[in-house]
Parts: sequence; structure tokens; C-alpha cells
Amino acid sequence: MQPDDAPLFAQIDARRAALIELTQSLIRIPTLNPPGQNYREICEFLAGYLQNAGFTVQLLRATGAIADSESHPRWNLLARREGTRPGDCVHFNGHHDVVTVGHGWTTDPFGGEVKDGRIYGRGACDMKGGIATAIIAAEAFVAAHPDFGGAIEVSATADEESGGYGGVAWMAEQGYFAPDRVQHVIIPEPLNKDRICLGHRGVWWAEIETKGRIAHGSMPFLGDSAIRHMGAVLAEIEEVLYPLLAGRRTAMPVVPEGARSSTLNVNAIHGGEPEPPAGYTGLPAPLVADRCRITIDRRFLIEEEIGAVKAEIVALMDRVQAGRPSFRYEIRDLFEVQPVMTDREAPIVRSTAAAIERVLARQPDYVVSPGTYDQKHIDRIGRLKNCIAYGPGILDLAHQPDEWIGIDDMMDSARVMALVLAELLLD
Ligand SMILES: [Zn+2]
Repeated sequence: MQPDDAPLFAQIDARRAALIELTQSLIRIPTLNPPGQNYREICEFLAGYLQNAGFTVQLLRATGAIADSESHPRWNLLARREGTRPGDCVHFNGHHDVVTVGHGWTTDPFGGEVKDGRIYGRGACDMKGGIATAIIAAEAFVAAHPDFGGAIEVSATADEESGGYGGVAWMAEQGYFAPDRVQHVIIPEPLNKDRICLGHRGVWWAEIETKGRIAHGSMPFLGDSAIRHMGAVLAEIEEVLYPLLAGRRTAMPVVPEGARSSTLNVNAIHGGEPEPPAGYTGLPAPLVADRCRITIDRRFLIEEEIGAVKAEIVALMDRVQAGRPSFRYEIRDLFEVQPVMTDREAPIVRSTAAAIERVLARQPDYVVSPGTYDQKHIDRIGRLKNCIAYGPGILDLAHQPDEWIGIDDMMDSARVMALVLAELLLD
């Protein structure tokens, strides 16, 4: 610790109980997604809290966004605190939705129980603990340095767990992340207190359908089996594509290590007759399948270009077609996200790295996430490149039973975030 950090760290230390209580309060509002419960309640709670802390607050409904409805409106909260003079704006963004509880809990998922230095509950680490940490960091910073320049923003947004379209994407479309409004973004996802997450790999989801001709199952030679065609496609994926993808390594520091190359998962396969209705006890009908579909989930690297990723699959299908005269197919795009990776020299990365060194006395690890999160919208729609995920909590615990966050980890991360504010908003 450097001598001038002492007043700031004293403000953080004084807020340990407040940090615990705030995290518990957030966990106790069950914001399950789907369907998107209690979004208004959690935004109102945070609005009240942040207003008391001197922030100007706005409740924003993502009217017209995917999944927004009268029964489950997509509410977001934006809070802003101006400094004493113009300067940069540092924005903390956390999603307030949580995933379903699932089975296997030994604690109350919405109880916020404190045990052995941990707070338990659905969303404890992903990411209500992170939101609380950022808020306490901001409060402590303002208390220690009321003369700061620029502005601090905190947002709590909807639907990250289902794509973020009623949350960060909508806010970015409205201009809330425009580069002239916000200059630095930290998303306190649970990436561990000593790691800086620079971005994520890209995604392409598509549905591939093979087509055949229906016939009686006792005379398959009179038909044309779409399932056999799909078998040939899967064999080509297995024998040719997988080795190719595995050999394509990235310079992105993706964790876990296995995700440091291109990957493809076949999410689903459906062919032939539909599943019989529940309770049906008869036999299936003898038919040659005229349709077979797979859904693919292709994760790609910053070194790859999405056009080439798609063309590779088309080329694969064409190879299969060359050996099967009656083969026909269709590819339908479902969803795509570009890979993003913030530059290590970006101001938010440098100041967070320096703060981690000062608080934890070690160099940070730089990581990239195998899957996407809300940074994609800030990058693509908001056009803001100075964005990272940094926050307390252990990623592996996210979405698990007995999810928890360590109180000491939150305190350390709060110190790091407060130092980042000091670095970026003080002269
Ligand atoms: Zn999350």
C-alpha cells in the first residue's frame, strides 16, 4: 500500500458491513430469468440506495426489446454522479438477472446467508456481489475524494443471461454507452479478483437441414434418407473439421485452456418423425426420413473472420454433396456475435492492472472468456473499446447450487475498483 491509499482504504474498510448487507438485499430479490421476475423491484431498490448515496437515478424500461412484455417488463437502472469538473466517465455495469435455482442446494437460494466468510445465494457471485462491490467502491471513493473530476455511473441491467437484448444492448442502442458519454467500462462479472477479462470469442449458431424423400420403411431404396445424408455430414465434421479446428490456436488468452482453439458443438439433432406426444404408447410408423436437422454452435477466434467461418461449413456441405448425387441441404443463420478483445494498453486495462498490483501485490492474469457476455453490445453497438470484465467471485460457481461469494474477495475487489477511480478521475 502506498501512503496516499490509506484514506481511501479506510473508507472501504468502514463499509464492510454495508457491503454484506447490500449483497444480501440484492440476493433476496429473486430476479429469475427466464421469465424475468422482479426487475422493477430490484431497480427500485438500487435506485433508492444510490439516490441516498448522491447519485441521480433513472429507471429505464427496454420497451420493444425482445422479451419485454406487460407481465414481464425489462427494467434497467442507470445512476450517475457528477464530479466537480469535467472529465472522463467511469461506468460499472452489472446484470441484475439470475438463472434458475436448480437442485442440490443446502442453503436458501434467496436467503443471502452468511457462513464462514461467504455469502450464499443464487446470483451471489454472478453477479449481485459484483454490483454491490462496485457500488461500495464508488461510495468510498467519493467519500475520500469529494473533489473528483468527471463522472461515475452504475447500471444494473436486464437479461444478460438470455443475450442482453432487453438490457445492455437496448441501452447501447439508446446511446447510453456512446463514446462521448462513457469512456471506461468495468463489468464486475465473477472472473476472480486478480484477473482482467479482456473479451470473448465469437459465436455463430446455425441450423443445417438435410433433405430427402419420404417412403415406406420396408422399401428404403424407394426413398432418400435425410438421416443418412446427415450421417455423412457428421462424419465429415468428425474426420475433417474437428482436427482442423483443434489445430487452429489463438493468441487470445482464453480460459480454460481447451477453449484456446476454434470449437464446434452440435447442440441438437432431429430427424424423421417428430417425438410422439406424451402418453402415446403405440409403435412408430415405418418411414424413410425426409428431413434431418442439426443446430451447430461454432465458437471462433479473433484471428478468424465470420465470413470464412460460414464459408468453411458451406464448403464442407459441398464436399459431402459431391459424393452423394441426391443430396440437398439448407443452412439457416440463427445468431452471431463477433469476438472482442480490448487492447492491453487501453486505459481501463492499465489502471486496473496497476490497482491489482497495489492491492494484491501480484501481477494480474489476463484472460478471455470462452463464451460471450454483455461486453459484445458495448463494443459493437456502443462502439466503446475501453471495456473489461473485472470482479470478485469464482466463475466456476456461477449457475451452480450453493453459489457463494467471499467477503474478503469482495473487499479486495472494492479496493481495486476504488483505486481505478482514483487513477482515472483524480488529477
Ligand atoms: Zn453473469
